[in-house]
Amino acid sequence: MERNPTTRGIAERLLAWFAAHARDLPWRRDRTPYRVWVAEVMLQQTRVETVIPYYDRFLQRFPTVEALVEASLEEVLKVWEGLGYYARARNLHAAARRVVVEYGGQLPPAYEALRELPGMGPYIAGAVASIAFGRPVVALDGNGRRVLARLFAVEGDPRRTAVRRRLEALARSLLPSDRPGPFNEALMELGATVCLPRAPRCDRCPLAGDCRARQAGAEAQYPTRAASRPVPHYQVAAAVLLREDGRVLVARRREEDFLGGLWEFPGGKQEDGETLRECLARELREELGIGVEVGERLLTLEHAYTHFRITLHAFRCALREGEPRCLECADLRWVLPAEMDALPMSVADRRIAQAVQMWTREGAIS
Ligand code: SF4
Repeated sequence: MERNPTTRGIAERLLAWFAAHARDLPWRRDRTPYRVWVAEVMLQQTRVETVIPYYDRFLQRFPTVEALVEASLEEVLKVWEGLGYYARARNLHAAARRVVVEYGGQLPPAYEALRELPGMGPYIAGAVASIAFGRPVVALDGNGRRVLARLFAVEGDPRRTAVRRRLEALARSLLPSDRPGPFNEALMELGATVCLPRAPRCDRCPLAGDCRARQAGAEAQYPTRAASRPVPHYQVAAAVLLREDGRVLVARRREEDFLGGLWEFPGGKQEDGETLRECLARELREELGIGVEVGERLLTLEHAYTHFRITLHAFRCALREGEPRCLECADLRWVLPAEMDALPMSVADRRIAQAVQMWTREGAIS
């Protein structure tokens, strides 16, 4: 698309601002396609400050695609532990295998080829193609979408496909073919540091003179947000099943399930009409084929995921009938409390594991 003088001016102002104000972030140093890719995967739905230490640890542990492929999924999940959205780590690991097998360890530069890899949605493929390979492709995250919605006073919720497409078309109309990567980054950087969701700092914005929302004094009205649905809240019971030799039972979730590949204290969601203790006894019968006596409640904690919240209740349990078998999980292990440190777990299960370690050290449970 031939760009008119106004759109060219916007891109130039934005790029000049980025050259002067870009934050010094680890993934902007020593850029390789692999490093760009890992950063973009981690940055999905996660704040920059949270990502930095994970990124540094991940690159130290897996400095190349080959190193990532040689590691087990469990090792990868362990390094990822606490960052959330674990499907990202599973997909990254699976995609790395494809890169080694199909492309000799080099990421393919074409957007379409990148899109074929596990976990490569339009955003990550666009970011890698443009930032790592200089391909003229748009990459828009929530920050970039907010800037464009304000700049062009675009009505509608960007979560809707039609609005997203409109914003992508606008980004394409601005994209300079000679510097697509810096342009994409600059737009997102402006959204992350200046065009903030609640209080945009328009007085510091290089695009203030171009911005339709600003001209109308209506920055806060964009992007439009449709009312969100209430977030469901579930009660969940988990078993701390201790054996006489001091080992505790943990189960590995199936890879295709939510939090797949992580280890957990077995249990599940409370159903209508049952108590938490009945729920736990039922879950252990269904998942592990065992009968248990559900004892004292050890711990209750709250945890929020993206689309729901849980209150997790951990109960001490004693085995009364049968030997645990994996009926609805990927693996089972009886581990010593200290050994749980090596297993990847979700934040909520890690808190139970830490409590169990403390109690057993202090002799509060045995
Ligand atoms: S002028 Fe204000 S609202 Fe418009 S793009 Fe800049 S920071 Fe955002």
